[in-house]
Amino acid sequence: MKIAVIGTGYVGLVTGVCLAETGNQVVCVDKDPHKLAQLRQGQIPIYEPGLEPIFRRVTSQGRLIFSENLEEAAARSELIFLALPTPEQEDGSADLSRVLAVTEILARLKDRRRLIITKSTVPVGTAARMKKLLEAEGSPAIVVSNPEFLREGFAIEDFMKPTRIVVGTSHPEAREIMARLYQPFVRQGNPIYFMSEESAELAKYAANAFLAMKISFMNELARLAEKCGANIDDVRLSMGADDRIGKRFLFAGLGYGGSCFPKDVKALAHTARSYGLTLALTEATLQVNDSQLEFFKNKIRQRFDGEIQGKTFAVWGLAFKPDTDDVREAPALKLIRWMLREGARIQAFDPEAFGNAWKEIPELPKINDMYAALEGADALVICTEWTQFRTPDFEKIAAALTRKIIFDGRNLYPPDQMRQLGFEYFSVGRL
Ligand code: NAD
Repeated sequence: MKIAVIGTGYVGLVTGVCLAETGNQVVCVDKDPHKLAQLRQGQIPIYEPGLEPIFRRVTSQGRLIFSENLEEAAARSELIFLALPTPEQEDGSADLSRVLAVTEILARLKDRRRLIITKSTVPVGTAARMKKLLEAEGSPAIVVSNPEFLREGFAIEDFMKPTRIVVGTSHPEAREIMARLYQPFVRQGNPIYFMSEESAELAKYAANAFLAMKISFMNELARLAEKCGANIDDVRLSMGADDRIGKRFLFAGLGYGGSCFPKDVKALAHTARSYGLTLALTEATLQVNDSQLEFFKNKIRQRFDGEIQGKTFAVWGLAFKPDTDDVREAPALKLIRWMLREGARIQAFDPEAFGNAWKEIPELPKINDMYAALEGADALVICTEWTQFRTPDFEKIAAALTRKIIFDGRNLYPPDQMRQLGFEYFSVGRL
């Protein structure tokens, strides 16, 4: 099939690459000329494991090309995917300006019937708004809601072998085309769920808010665990063994971050309010997440008697989670900004995300070794659970730090072992 993907970011690039891999002819469109220039030179602007070999194959074989020309790319395509940002607005709602502006442009194409397929996370009612815009222009296009569930760090695996594909459409022809498009990705029998546009839109927010709620629940329990002398890891293991609960998303830590959970939970709460409803669990999820970083900051504050000015902190991990270079809403960056405001010095290391973090906080000195970040620091603060931090050389850590203090926001090490090694060790929900 001939496909255009509008927006070539984390979702759009992966979508374009994977759809080209199964034989489609894909053009990825972006408004950022620098990004397009990089892509045309074979440079991949994001870190995503497994992306590169497929990218090389589909670009060298001419099945994936890049364009800044939305109209031209759309005109030659049967299917047009929207993978545009839908960031948070001040009132918590999702900013649909890009999705609607692009829809208005697409509405002018009337020579044939095309599918406009929304991969962006958009609130309930967006497909209906898009349909109205198309109808007003007399466009024959069909809107399909096809929310994306890929995880950064596993994006290729998730796209190629999705747990499920959700397709919101009331149109039989669109349903048939979408089934054909996704057939190569569900050969193992994973389901394609067809539903209304509204259900598909809500399903995406429901999934993200539920996962965020699991994290907030554990973070709240971690605070109680510390008060009553329980160990949140033991509690987690025992909970997770029950398959009604499941093992994942039960890790206490610094709170969720990233480009999706924070904005999507807020947008869901906002949507509910616009219907005169308060989603109490969703609102509480937000509140707990907001206070979790404060809870962690307090550990640092208290250890230094409220005086972190003039102290040097080594920070391991800047990405909002491992295996990505994405620092959007990363707890590490919030923590670093706070420490810098308080007058501390930061020596940060991340295996992949340093460049993106540095664009946000240019005062960070460039350090490309995890042990070099420790030199002369008063404490180590762990913000992202990259695999290489899991079994470090503790002797090297002890030798490089001026004081043997670790604040572990990801509960990477057993507290007993750390005490035996002579560290003052602060983690989350464990004494
Ligand atoms: P992103 O910021 O990485 O990429 C968006 C791209 O769109 C950028 O390259 C930007 O330059 C481009 N763009 C912006 N306006 C444009 C326009 N008018 N015309 C052409 N290009 C334009 O965003 P993302 O992380 O890929 O997210 C895209 C959508 O997918 C969001 O709604 C997000 O919530 C959703 N989503 C993201 C993930 C994820 O893990 N990142 C997962 C599922 C869903």
